[in-house]
Amino acid sequence: MKYVYGPVPSRRLGSSLGIDPLPSKTCNYQCIYCQLGRTTNFTNERKNYVPKNEIIAKMKTAIKQNKNNIDYITFVGSGEPTLYRDLGALILKVKEFSKKPVCVITNGALLYDLEIRNILMLADVVLPSLDAGDEKSFIRINRPHPSIKFDAMIQGFIDFQKNFKGKFWIEIMIMKGINDSKEKLLKIKEKIDLIRPDRIDINVPIRPPVEEWVKIPGKNIISLLNEIFGEYYDINFPEIGKFGFYSSDFEKEVLSIIERHPMRQEQILDTFSSNNFNKDEILLRLENLESKKKIKKILYDHKIFWKLL
Ligand code: SF4
Repeated sequence: MKYVYGPVPSRRLGSSLGIDPLPSKTCNYQCIYCQLGRTTNFTNERKNYVPKNEIIAKMKTAIKQNKNNIDYITFVGSGEPTLYRDLGALILKVKEFSKKPVCVITNGALLYDLEIRNILMLADVVLPSLDAGDEKSFIRINRPHPSIKFDAMIQGFIDFQKNFKGKFWIEIMIMKGINDSKEKLLKIKEKIDLIRPDRIDINVPIRPPVEEWVKIPGKNIISLLNEIFGEYYDINFPEIGKFGFYSSDFEKEVLSIIERHPMRQEQILDTFSSNNFNKDEILLRLENLESKKKIKKILYDHKIFWKLL
C-alpha cells in the first residue's frame, strides 16, 4: 500500500507496521552500508514531500486492518523520516487511531534541531544510529549533507535523551576494517557514555550494502564488543516471520515491500506461498520482474536477496 507497508517482522520490534512518508531514497545521509541503494534525493530540506492527507488515509486503513497483529507502528522506510515536515502531526494521528506504541527509526542527524527534538518527544520509542565516534569517520561512513555537523548532532542526542520519557535505543552498524578497531569502538563508546541511551543495539550489514566493499566483521569482534560495550543487544541475526500485504497482486505487493526492505528469497517464498501462491510460480514471477528490470537478485553472505533495481 502506498505510504504504508507490512507489518514486517523486525528484529527489535516484533511485528512492525511501517509508515513511509517519503519518496524513494530521500535522505540527508548516503551511508556506505545503506540497504536501499544510492541516495537519489540527497537533501536536508524538511517539507511535506507527499500530501499529508493521503498518508493519513492509508495509515487509518492499514491500522484498522492490522490492529490485532502488530506490536509497533513505525515511521521508517525509503529515507530519513524526520525530513517530513509534519511528522509530528502524523505521529499524533497514529495515536488517535491506535493505542500501539509509535516508533521512529531515524539516523538522528536532525536531533541538533530543537523542533525535531520536540517532534520526536511525541513518539514512544526512538531508534537513532551512531556509527562513528568522530567527525572524520562520520563523514566516511554516513557521508552526511554538508550542513550536518558531528559535534552539534551528538549534542542533540544528549539534549534529547535528557528529557525523553520513552525508549531511546542507539544502533551501531559495525563494519569490517571501517569501524571495528579498538580505537574506533572506544571513540564511539565515549560518545555513548555522554548520551546515555536506554540500550545499545549492535548490528552488522546482514543485507546487501550499497557499497560492495562493506563487509561483515569476523566473529573475533565479539570479545572486543564485550570488552568495550559490556552490556549491549545483539541484532546480528536475520529476522524471522512473515510480511503482511494487502492484495493478491504479487508484483505490486512484493515491490512495495522490497522498495523499503530488501528480502531474502526464502522470506518471499515463505510470505507469499502461504497465501495461495505456489513456490515455483513465485520464483517465475520474480524472474519475470528481474527481466523487466524492476528488481535484481543478489548473492550476499551465502544467501539470495531480492532488491529494487
Ligand atoms: S541507511 Fe538510512 S540514513 Fe543511511 S542513507 Fe540509507 S536511508 Fe539514509
